Amino acid sequence: MLEERPAQTYDFRTFERAWQERWEREGVYRALDDDPREKYYVLEMLPYPSGDLHVGHAKNYTLGDAYARMMRMQGYNVVHPMGFDAFGLPAENAAIERGIDPNVWTHSNIANMERQIRLMGTGYDWSRELATCEPSYYRWNQWIFLRLFEDGLAYKREAPVNWCPKDQTVLANEQVEDGRCWRCGSLVERRNLSQWFLKITAFADRLLASIETLGGWPEKIRTMQRNWIGRSEGVTFSFEAEGLDERISVFTTRIDTLFGVTYIALAAEHPLVAKIAAAHPECRAALEAFAATVRNKSELERTSLMAKSGVFTGAYAVNPLSNERIPIWITNYVLAEYGTGAVMAVPAHDERDYEFARAHGLPVARVIEEPGTPSDVPVEAAYVGDGALMASGAFSGTNSERARKAIGDRLVALGIGEWTVNYKLRDWLISRQRYWGTPIPIVHCPQHGEVAVPDAQLPVILPADVPITGEGSPLARDAAFVNTTCPKCGGPARRESDTMDTFFESSWYYLRYLDVDNGRAPWDRARANAWMNVDQYIGGAEHAVLHLLYARFFYKYFHDKGWVGGRDEPFERLFNQGMVLRNGEKMSKSRGNVVGIDETADKHGVDAMRLFLLKATPPEDTMEWTDEGIAGRVRFLDRVWRACEPLAGRARITALTHPPEMRGDEQREVVRAVHAALKSGADETQTRRLHYNTTLARLDELVNAMTKFGQRAGSESDPALLYAVHVMPLLLAPFAPHIADELWARLGYDRSVHSERWIPVDPSALAVSEVTVVVQVNGKIRARLVTAPGTSEDEMLSRALAEPNVSSNIAGKEIRKRVFVPDKLLSLVVA
Ligand SMILES: [Zn+2]
Ligand SMILES: [Zn+2]
Repeated sequence: MLEERPAQTYDFRTFERAWQERWEREGVYRALDDDPREKYYVLEMLPYPSGDLHVGHAKNYTLGDAYARMMRMQGYNVVHPMGFDAFGLPAENAAIERGIDPNVWTHSNIANMERQIRLMGTGYDWSRELATCEPSYYRWNQWIFLRLFEDGLAYKREAPVNWCPKDQTVLANEQVEDGRCWRCGSLVERRNLSQWFLKITAFADRLLASIETLGGWPEKIRTMQRNWIGRSEGVTFSFEAEGLDERISVFTTRIDTLFGVTYIALAAEHPLVAKIAAAHPECRAALEAFAATVRNKSELERTSLMAKSGVFTGAYAVNPLSNERIPIWITNYVLAEYGTGAVMAVPAHDERDYEFARAHGLPVARVIEEPGTPSDVPVEAAYVGDGALMASGAFSGTNSERARKAIGDRLVALGIGEWTVNYKLRDWLISRQRYWGTPIPIVHCPQHGEVAVPDAQLPVILPADVPITGEGSPLARDAAFVNTTCPKCGGPARRESDTMDTFFESSWYYLRYLDVDNGRAPWDRARANAWMNVDQYIGGAEHAVLHLLYARFFYKYFHDKGWVGGRDEPFERLFNQGMVLRNGEKMSKSRGNVVGIDETADKHGVDAMRLFLLKATPPEDTMEWTDEGIAGRVRFLDRVWRACEPLAGRARITALTHPPEMRGDEQREVVRAVHAALKSGADETQTRRLHYNTTLARLDELVNAMTKFGQRAGSESDPALLYAVHVMPLLLAPFAPHIADELWARLGYDRSVHSERWIPVDPSALAVSEVTVVVQVNGKIRARLVTAPGTSEDEMLSRALAEPNVSSNIAGKEIRKRVFVPDKLLSLVVA
């Protein structure tokens, strides 16, 4: 493509790097705390330093950058920081596979990625840069952990955990996808281990309630958060276990189906199972054999992948209202750690129970009438809806909603039940048996148990030169690290060897950017308050559950502690950008379809890359990277250069405060196109829609108009054209920052265009090319059509006929008479 470019082209190779160096030297993008302008915080999700970036990554940074630049031009004091989420498994895996020190691997990746992010012409305030693997950062991770520990929100307990056999580590529920490790894809196993948890469940109701206040978030993400928290209201009550002097507690949201319970399903790990086995020796062997089949199986395998199976225990429970005897089974699909570990099974009105009952020959008892189905025909599928109760004693005939209240109240009155709220959300498991993470600042003393490392001894430094083999916990084997003394008694003690889930670091980094050098606290409240909240957060939807929920939890905790002011949510608006595909597929090394940043910058230039990424589609949509697409933006920049550069010397004398006087249509069109582009850029910014693809389409129109007019003799001194040349760098500045500054300098300015303001839209400049044509049918106004002046009668007629309100009033009748007044009126008479 490059060979075909005409002689007078924009030489991006000469200019792009030079401008990047100058911006950095002059601190053009520094955000100062004491700036009197209104603040605005633009943030892209903290990237993991994984290695080389490709144009798919660039879309995210370019969108955030264009928006931050635009907000700066709108007069805001914009903070736009960047850093690295630098702990985590890939560095450790590189150590295992290739013997590279994780610290060395991580820092060389950070250096390369930072170089590439700068190469994209991004305007970050690098003075705020952080990397979460630095002791100056993770020290405050440890400090926050200790506050959570003091407040009872960090605790250790034995628990069945998701275990990745390949990565040899525990995974949070959020990190298990379809039963597999989110990172390596191995089938996840279950193990019992003593683990550190954060009590996010204590915030479940608040995390749920304030989703309603996040009006600037995509509805899809809000729904995912709601579902993850999974609140349900119901009744927790107990069945008597016959002859065992025990009660079995269950939770249900469908207490209206109580009379339809035909068996009780227990988790294989339920404490009652051992007692039943003792009381029913004839069943013991079967129970133990069954329990062995579910041991070490992950939750997803048990609930979704395995066939539902179970075994009768020999014991019975008693329905508290009907007094029926109900067989007790153990099953693979009920999990001990969810709810009470026991379920009342109602096959007629629950699909899973129905499937199980049919497979095991258990009775199915209909207790809710199904609309349109006679109640005496056998049940052929579970009916899960509400309806009138039947075969339910005194409650028969009551509808489900009233029955839930009445039966629930009855169980409460009997002293065996209570109204409860249940959440799907579990506490956040943060322990990792890995090396490359923040050490958990706890010492285990034989006398004093879990003892906090005193604040003055933070950070607990992650030791260097620890052998990493890929098996078990490297820190646990490091005697020099593990062997310590108890801070309370001075006696010999053992240091905690687990490190933290990296989502801990990314739950609060946006606050550290605001006070990155603070050595006395994670941040200063006043400094943070001056910038919070994050006004616009930009990142991929893949973090919709994990990262956003954890960050919201931390922020609520910080708010309760008084460490932040304002409201207890950190992110006002959230934008999920779409992916960049190549040949219809996501870019990946294995597919060989990766388009790299370095090659693109070298071949086509950074400005062209940015323009293509912003112009191809609305930013939330998936786009396809094509050779024609990038070549089109290279040509666009050449056309800009040819239209503007030769006139730059003269253009500066034109005033920017108001549009010039215009004499002819071509001049009017040039000025209209300038203001149409200004308006689009301002609108997309103000509405926070960020559809800069439309603004860039307006810029195409402007360059067309300038090129066309520029061919006319004498146009080189025309005020309208020179005005457009003068405004052009400002219009380009957010999107193609290098050519913008180069043209601005050629206009004679010393100061960077990136310190300038966006030009306010002049409605009169826009109006010159728009007229409203009134359409009448039989003397009545049926439409008003906005169009360019001089639109022909034929075109106006076809546009009028396309208007529903016009066509419905013609309704197939013949047009007898037509009156057309150009730019004003189209009158139709029909009969
Ligand atoms: Zn794994
Ligand atoms: Zn002690």
